Amino acid sequence: KELPADPVMENTRRQVTKACYSYVTPKKTSRPQMVHVSPEMLENLGLSDTIGRSTEFLEIFTGNDLLPGTNPYAMCYGGHQFGNWAGQLGDGRAINLAEVIHRDKRWALQLKGSGETPYSRTADGLAVLRSSIREYLCSEAMHHLGVPTTRALSLALTGDQVLRDVLYDGNPAYEKGAVVCRASPTFLRFGNYEILSARQDIKTLGILVDYTLKHFFPHLGVPSKETYIQFFKEVVDQTLNMIIHWQRVGFVHGVMNTDNMSILGLTIDYGPYGWLEGYDPGWTPNTTDRQQKRYRYGNQANIGLWNLYQFANALYPLIEETTPLEGILEQYRIDFQNHHLKMMKGKLGLFTDDVDDNALVNSLINNLQLTETDMTLFFRHLGDFNKSYPADGLTLVRDAFYAPEGLSSEIQHIWTEWFTAYATRLQKEALSDQNRKGKMNSFNPKYVLRNYMAQMAIDAADKGDYSVLDELFGIMKQPYSEQKDAEKWFAKRPEWARHKVGSSMLSCSS
Ligand code: AMP
Ligand code: MG
Ligand code: MG
Repeated sequence: KELPADPVMENTRRQVTKACYSYVTPKKTSRPQMVHVSPEMLENLGLSDTIGRSTEFLEIFTGNDLLPGTNPYAMCYGGHQFGNWAGQLGDGRAINLAEVIHRDKRWALQLKGSGETPYSRTADGLAVLRSSIREYLCSEAMHHLGVPTTRALSLALTGDQVLRDVLYDGNPAYEKGAVVCRASPTFLRFGNYEILSARQDIKTLGILVDYTLKHFFPHLGVPSKETYIQFFKEVVDQTLNMIIHWQRVGFVHGVMNTDNMSILGLTIDYGPYGWLEGYDPGWTPNTTDRQQKRYRYGNQANIGLWNLYQFANALYPLIEETTPLEGILEQYRIDFQNHHLKMMKGKLGLFTDDVDDNALVNSLINNLQLTETDMTLFFRHLGDFNKSYPADGLTLVRDAFYAPEGLSSEIQHIWTEWFTAYATRLQKEALSDQNRKGKMNSFNPKYVLRNYMAQMAIDAADKGDYSVLDELFGIMKQPYSEQKDAEKWFAKRPEWARHKVGSSMLSCSS
């Protein structure tokens, strides 16, 4: 009620001005079926497992029934997509159901895939099972990895068919429709502010920013130009923090458009994301970005900065001073260098400072690219490194190489040199090998949601078998722990999955 609502109640696609959201009712589904509910999220919301299994829960979180006294709505936002201003986008297939405050924490609950809104443009407002499984599994996995993220409460089948592709023979390829209920303190993105600024609707922009401060940055105090600058600084810091975490675990978002940048620095919109297998800064999972590779792994921090420039421009009319904003953006570059080095050193078990640390990290990054080297396996095995036996380093990580038998003597030599330098550097650390391993293993996950793993869960679920989904969901709750029954997932991507996953299916709007 604090933000201006769109007065038009009719659900037609349109430009929505002077408003932050439009009221819209979720589409009814024909044969809804709950597939999975996150026990952790039930608990966060103060809901029992019994409620999670109830028909009422099923009806509400598939959009068939409304919680009493609620007015679901879709938000209006714009965005820069792949570097270009795209105008109004908005929640084209997301509908906010309600907000819950439990244990002093606010959760907005949002259905994704529950039908058309004024922002659906040319699309259908729906989601298919495969993309919903990917969002559901990955947002919970990211949370347990310690990466700031939106969460997922539930995954359900709608019982309806959704058309996403037409086969070569001209026949429509229908897929199972699904709905995920996502949860986050707020789903506000840079794009919510950009659209108002682009339309020079400074009045509504001011209302939205003050609302944001009141609910999500209350410690900043009474709104003023100074507070707005502080707000910007916090968004910058939280965005950087999120991206450093992505780099640490090898997560590639895939569509870092400004409409996918959360105001709270949370990972949002699990579309064509992927996980690094071979360590390759040039890799992107997004098939529509294979030429330009704008959103490649090694470019995420730069893009974060580019996006923050757009966000600064959006706030500018309320601040009317460029110097403080530019100063904050300049600081991001410096902070990135420092935080990135600290993060990489953490992965190596280095907790003190040495002048050559940057060089040691950079040579490692180069070495990891000499031949296809699995990022997750490499760092996990490195925890077992014995600084008294640097010559054994290569053997220790051998299993991380995709073609270990083909390592040239030159590459072996380069690695041996690096392990020797690493062993020498470790001598300067106070930690024993045993303690270092413990620390490294809480930094370097053993299990990440590799693309082929999510795909196996999808293939089984498509046939009505949710056991893989359930197994992965369980494993991903403890990604840093040794799990006896999960050893098969601590392995390189199998050869069959090299080109199969991610070649045709990973785009945004499925
Ligand atoms: P994305 O690339 O996933 O961030 O989506 C960009 C925009 O397209 C957002 O406004 C989405 O709400 C919208 N969108 C994506 N998929 C659909 C869909 N199936 N139906 C309606 N709108 C969609
Ligand atoms: Mg999006
Ligand atoms: Mg999306």
